Amino acid sequence: MADVCLGLGSNLGDRAAHLRAALARLRTIVVPGAISSVWRTEPVGYSDQPEFWNLVLCGTTELSPEDLLAAIQDIEAAGGRTRSFPNAPRTIDIDLLLYDDRQITRPELTVPHPRMLERGFVLRPLAEVAPWWVHPITGERIADHLARATGLEAAERLFPGEDLLRTGDSGRSGEGSPDQ
Ligand code: ADP
Ligand code: MG
Repeated sequence: MADVCLGLGSNLGDRAAHLRAALARLRTIVVPGAISSVWRTEPVGYSDQPEFWNLVLCGTTELSPEDLLAAIQDIEAAGGRTRSFPNAPRTIDIDLLLYDDRQITRPELTVPHPRMLERGFVLRPLAEVAPWWVHPITGERIADHLARATGLEAAERLFPGEDLLRTGDSGRSGEGSPDQ
């Protein structure tokens, strides 16, 4: 069994619905331990696109890192994601952020996620649920990384991610976004 943290994001259509569907599927492979708030964040990289909704889920899994990545990619595909270009709008993006204290450096799987320390939409929710987690490369706690981070994109806490884990709850909608 391994402790893992996953970052989820959506910036197309009914973001709450995309996140809820991905969480329901993820629960079959990761036993949820803690879930962050949902954060609304400015897009990064390619700026002429809609806002992101992001959250972090930490829990335990029996899958190897490779099998977990494959399962994550299946869930992205089931959620309607098509890969067009880097940072393109996406219905659902799921990143493997942390897997125990493992370090993996292959192009198809890099853990810890290589850009997690620069991304407010990862650091803020991650610091809510796992502030004590020591980053295996820097040796510093997530809380300390967030405290020292500068130039993070603007973000706003929307509502507890727990709201999206409840089954049978139609829950919050994506505010009828016109972009899909
Ligand atoms: P990003 O999430 O950085 O915006 P993408 O989701 O489009 O970009 O990148 C997906 C690619 O990144 C996949 O081909 C996957 O193999 C690779 N990858 C490498 N490390 C990871 C990781 N830790 N989690 C998710 N995907 C990863
Ligand atoms: Mg990704």
